[in-house]
Amino acid sequence: MIRLSFIVDKSFILQHILKSFSDWRSVKVLKHKLWKRNQKLYYILAQNIEPLTFADNFSEELKRAVKDSLSDLSFIYKNPLFRKILKETEKYRLFVNEQWEKNYNLSLMHMRDITKLPLDTVQLNLEVYISHPKLSRGRSYPEQRVIAWAHSEDWKNYSTVYLWHEIMHHIAYSRKGSSHLMHALIELACDNELRVRLNGRGGYFREGEFDVGHNYLVKLERKITEEWKKYLNDPRTNVYQLERKLRSKFSEEFLVSRQSALNEWAEWH
Ligand SMILES: [Zn+2]
Repeated sequence: MIRLSFIVDKSFILQHILKSFSDWRSVKVLKHKLWKRNQKLYYILAQNIEPLTFADNFSEELKRAVKDSLSDLSFIYKNPLFRKILKETEKYRLFVNEQWEKNYNLSLMHMRDITKLPLDTVQLNLEVYISHPKLSRGRSYPEQRVIAWAHSEDWKNYSTVYLWHEIMHHIAYSRKGSSHLMHALIELACDNELRVRLNGRGGYFREGEFDVGHNYLVKLERKITEEWKKYLNDPRTNVYQLERKLRSKFSEEFLVSRQSALNEWAEWH
């Protein structure tokens, strides 16, 4: 069973707000509030510590930044705008949780059929850290068993499709092979085939007014679509075997690189 626990966490949401480039007014105001109260802590939480390196003693500057973090954080957590974002995120958490539960059995059956992997015997417990849907996030942290997730529901079953995308990153994480090619196969499997099957409509690479898939992968996906379609009708080959086959075919373009927490996974989303 693949179990997802959906979590709303204040510190996760705050760092997401602070590092995002959103034009949303609430985000701009909250950034400014913390920046005015403690610039150094702001830089750390916004994940831009460059200004702290300009100090004479970087290590001391880091200590100064977090010295009053308890009270600085509670100052932000109490802010009405932050509380509103938190409340809306909780509502979104319930929505995603409900959609996931409703679609679980059917989507599992489709994914088993698409990947040809025994996904119904997989035991996987993941925590899904939810952020506000106006601030997009989709990221896998296999070593922490965490998915970071937030997105507007651009089309039907959007959350289900992309949670499967992130789950496939977790499942394929320990495989040797080309992470670039595996990512393209995950997009063909989830973003495209699962979406079309679940919604009973639509085509590859486009849903209504939205393009589907990362630009840097779609070119490769289009190149392997013919093999992909043949593979879907061949019960003897699973998605890992397809990856191996395609890798040797495109070997000069896709060097074998082991996925690791410090390498390719950083590009995943
Ligand atoms: Zn991905």
